[in-house]
Parts: sequence; C-alpha cells; structure tokens
Amino acid sequence: MNELVAFGLDETGLVLIPGTEYKIREAALEPFLSLSDAAKREGFEIRVESSYRSFERQLSIWNRKATGKLTLLDSKGIPFKELLNDEDVLMRAILLWSALPGASRHHFGSDLDVVDATAIPDGYEVKLTEEECCGMFAPFHEWLTSKIKAKESFGFDRVFVPGRGSIRPEPWHISHIPTARNLQDAFDPQSLRLIYEHSAMALKNAVLTHFDELMKSTVFPYFL
Ligand SMILES: [Zn+2]
Repeated sequence: MNELVAFGLDETGLVLIPGTEYKIREAALEPFLSLSDAAKREGFEIRVESSYRSFERQLSIWNRKATGKLTLLDSKGIPFKELLNDEDVLMRAILLWSALPGASRHHFGSDLDVVDATAIPDGYEVKLTEEECCGMFAPFHEWLTSKIKAKESFGFDRVFVPGRGSIRPEPWHISHIPTARNLQDAFDPQSLRLIYEHSAMALKNAVLTHFDELMKSTVFPYFL
C-alpha cells in the first residue's frame, strides 16, 4: 500500500464535527470550534456545507459528470446546452468545478466549505458561488478576511484564491493549514497515477495524457 491510499480511502483519524454529519481530521477540530466560537461572538454562525470527502465519492462525482448523469456547468455556472464529446474538452469542463479523484483537498479532512447560516434567507438553497460571497455572505467573508490577516483564524486560511493555479476562486473553502501540510507532504503524484491506471475512471486516457500538467495547474499551486 502506498501513502496516497490514505487520501480519501482511509477514514482513521477523522472525527464528526459535533451537531453535524461532517467529518474532520482530529487535529483540526479544536481550531475549527474556536473559529466558530469567534464567529458566534460577532453574530455569525458558521455552517459546514462540505468537509471530508472519500475517494470513492469524488470518483463518483467525476464519473457522473463525465457521463452526463450530473449537470455540467460552464465557467459562469450555467449548464452546458449540449453534451461535450471531445474527451479533452469534457475533462477540462469538469475540472472547472470538480477536482480529480485523489487530488481533492477535501480528501485531507483539513478543508471545509463554510457559510454564515444567519445570512441565509428562508428556503434558500446554498449554491457556493461568488455571487453569494459578494452578497448575503459578504459581512462574514469580510470578518474572516480580517481574522486571517490578523493571524487570529486558528490556523485556517483560504486556499483557492486568484493567481495561484487554474481553479476558480472559492472564498468559502477554508483549510486548516498546519493539518493540511502533513498530508500535502505525503502526497505522491506517481502513486495517484497508478491508482488511476487501475480504477474505473471516466476520461482516464485524457487524464493520464495530461497528468503532469494537471498536477501543476490544479494541485501543487495550492500547497501552502
Ligand atoms: Zn471546497
């Protein structure tokens, strides 16, 4: 077994965030609860939309998007009108919004997608978009930015910010950097390539052909 198998396949060391169904790496739990308490004192309520995700779950998302079973969105978040036939084009369209299985930071268990529950209108379904961050969640994001700048965010930082790699900015995605670093250090692209070769993954040829480039544009720029 190689190191990478731990990412998204091995759930040891994960704990439930109290009151939720979401799992997080044990070392990141106390810092997250401290961040939540700090937010509460300012009138915000941090709600988790996503945290740990298994390899199988990411593979399922990938395969369903590749086969048209899950809606595929363009860079503006609008569904493509027709099926994309070219494997390369289809792969890059999926990568606008979804990570490669085994290369998602959500496998780490140190990363979460969060919103401010107090700002959500009744009946509104959170989509995790930039519009929401500039709109209803703007006060929360301003607060979070100020805490990160002041190094009062208990080790959490944003990762998907403009100017790093090819992934669209995700202000809602936060990472407990000290926890993530341990996992980043163990990340081994060559064992991931081997896993792809032996898994039932859609668009496998396109992914393997461009593998090194994809690591350089969607994974390593976000290792802090
Ligand atoms: Zn995320």
